[in-house]
Amino acid sequence: MLYVKEGGVLLKLDDWEQIYSRPNYVQDLDLKGKNLKALIGYYKNEPPRTCGIKSCHATHMKGGIVVTEDDLETCIGHICGSKIFKEKFDVLIQQIEKEVDFEIYKEAVATRKSRLFDYWRQAADLTSGTTGILRLAEKIALLRDPLSVGRFASMELIRMAANQNSKVAKEEWVQKEEKELTEEEKKDGKPKYKLEYLIVGQIRHVDLMLSSNDMKKLYQEEIEEVLRALQNLDLDKASKRQITSIGRAASAIEVRITRAKELKERAIEFLTRENLFPLYEKMLPMDTVSKNDLSLYENFINSLK
Ligand SMILES: [Zn+2]
Repeated sequence: MLYVKEGGVLLKLDDWEQIYSRPNYVQDLDLKGKNLKALIGYYKNEPPRTCGIKSCHATHMKGGIVVTEDDLETCIGHICGSKIFKEKFDVLIQQIEKEVDFEIYKEAVATRKSRLFDYWRQAADLTSGTTGILRLAEKIALLRDPLSVGRFASMELIRMAANQNSKVAKEEWVQKEEKELTEEEKKDGKPKYKLEYLIVGQIRHVDLMLSSNDMKKLYQEEIEEVLRALQNLDLDKASKRQITSIGRAASAIEVRITRAKELKERAIEFLTRENLFPLYEKMLPMDTVSKNDLSLYENFINSLK
């Protein structure tokens, strides 16, 4: 992007010819003995530009349009300018870069603001119906609550999520085979047992129990709140600070919506009786699981489809 300052106003130019055709512009400027008068333009985020300094002519990723004290203009790279004109150039380029960044923010905010209708429609899709993201989040909140689904199930699911382990294993005493018996064990001829962990099933998307995947927070704070701020923002009256802070959040809005959609789809698969059943199967024979814990979890999974 190329920006030029005209009468104190920063303008975005689409065509470099507008620079090259200026009457005082020099493609090949010998800067020996010349001093910097002003910086009237700035460029970055575009194909590298050829440096106008006679002794350089390399291409640079970013830089500025300078005016020398004898009123000659050329385009020079950021580092070249800093080397030749030292601190004066550094101060000026930092100033204009800040202004350019703010213009870029403003543009991004304006673009997002013009798409608000579409964003709100997507937000409505996310929240509507029985599988709306907030309802799903509520159910996951219940699963995190020992009073709602019992202490065992709640802790077990959170533990599985933290360990990134979706497999449900239960302990079972199984009879040892003949070849596993020691000489000592063989003596009385009675069956001998060993404790084994048997995989009874898998709970898919158990990572949704993690607070980093909190759908309610994601929707309310990073989507709804941002859209509302964008809607209430008056671009002509807003302060730089307002535009910068809303711009930052708004630039991530599409990514947030995509993430919310993905979490919602996974939550629908997570919150089914069939998916959560293996944990019930594990709890059923356990003496350490109270009747109350078992029935709370059973009621919860039976309330699902
Ligand atoms: Zn250069």
